Amino acid sequence: MRSTIDILGVKIDKISAGYALRKAEQMVRTPGVSTIFTPNPEIVMAAYEEPEFKEILNSADMCTPDGIGVVYAAKIIGTPVPERVAGFDLVCGLLDSLRKTGEGVFLFGAKPGVAEAARDKLCEKYTGLNIAGTHNGYFSDEDNDKIIKEINESGAKLLLVCLGAPKQEKWIYTNKDKLENVTLCMGVGGALDVFAGVAKRAPEIFIKCNLEWFYRFCKNPSRLGRFAALPKFMLTVCKNEKNKRSFS
Ligand code: UDP
Repeated sequence: MRSTIDILGVKIDKISAGYALRKAEQMVRTPGVSTIFTPNPEIVMAAYEEPEFKEILNSADMCTPDGIGVVYAAKIIGTPVPERVAGFDLVCGLLDSLRKTGEGVFLFGAKPGVAEAARDKLCEKYTGLNIAGTHNGYFSDEDNDKIIKEINESGAKLLLVCLGAPKQEKWIYTNKDKLENVTLCMGVGGALDVFAGVAKRAPEIFIKCNLEWFYRFCKNPSRLGRFAALPKFMLTVCKNEKNKRSFS
């Protein structure tokens, strides 16, 4: 039975990193397509403003509390989650597990060449990992069926969709029923860029101090518009909570 909390209408799982990994491993081994999304404050805010996107997020089998802002918001509304569960860390745990059991992984997304570079790096890091196929994330609507065919023929069980939000969640929602062998689809943003070495994850000290967002902002100030979603998200959560209390 899932235990979720509601943040601005988005269902977030009340899970630890260890539990999320066990559930994801189970999903890979369960017939039918399961989905995992990893909403951070920017994604939750986008869903708050776009009901259709909110429904898509809420259709997932698991939404991890990615982003420290989501963890703080959960605390503010009185339904804390055990810890932050970053999609990237969950994927790393899952790849380590799949390298031992042999299920295939398909890497879908990022600029041409990045998924292949990620494959090479991942095979070095996770000895025995079966990367069953790759495809870049810049494609036309006409190419979509061809991509699905490639994914199906690869026999991959785990499909990592890295098209950025909300494109990746919408792609998964629209196409998951066409997948024949995949048992778990995950939307994990810029993960392939990090695996390929095109982008860097924040140093451990920033992650430990809950300042990964700050590191990413300093590295890429042109994303200021995207980071503005964070204060907007916190303000909206506080405002909604205040309204709820004054009505109860
Ligand atoms: N991307 C893609 N197709 C698109 C738009 C984006 O494959 O049409 C990729 C982009 O190249 C990058 C990833 O999606 O690899 C999104 O990265 P971003 O850093 O925005 O994601 P985040 O981790 O911040 O959600």
